Amino acid sequence: MGVERDTIEIADGVKQIPGTPVFITKFDKVINWARAGSMWPLTFGLACCAIEMMATGASHYDLDRFGIIFRASPRQADLIIVAGTVTKKMAPVVRRVYDQMPEPKYVVAMGSCACSGGVFRTYSVAQGCDQFLPVDVYIPGCPPRPEALLHGLLKLQEKIKKETKRWGFWR
Ligand code: SF4
Repeated sequence: MGVERDTIEIADGVKQIPGTPVFITKFDKVINWARAGSMWPLTFGLACCAIEMMATGASHYDLDRFGIIFRASPRQADLIIVAGTVTKKMAPVVRRVYDQMPEPKYVVAMGSCACSGGVFRTYSVAQGCDQFLPVDVYIPGCPPRPEALLHGLLKLQEKIKKETKRWGFWR
């Protein structure tokens, strides 16, 4: 027969057995907390929006404080920020790089070009990267400022924290 003990809620969805170092929470919450706090975007820029992305990663805005650290290989990345104009010639390459990333993975469309083709309503430009990628967050603007990218990444963190049973290779 088990012994029932009182618990106190110390954070949203996290309980502690008083006087002990024992905490009770859901598996989803732990996984999502770790995942949202360690998003590793691929170092990948396509056009002028990439300059704003680089500025966001540099010391003034400092993405590292959110656990967001750029990686040079898709094998080590779980986030792709599509920063810039995607030509139809480039789209299959972006898709291939995305396919090389391990699950679970996320996509941020940064700027008007990545969201909808922007001002380039031409035969050669994809009218939005959601034509070939499952976009999680759209960030409008031409270009969006670093604050806008930060806001989009925080929105993605919120989305990740609401996921359920996404523990393995399935969506
Ligand atoms: S949205 Fe504007 S700044 Fe960004 S890639 Fe397109 S033209 Fe350049």
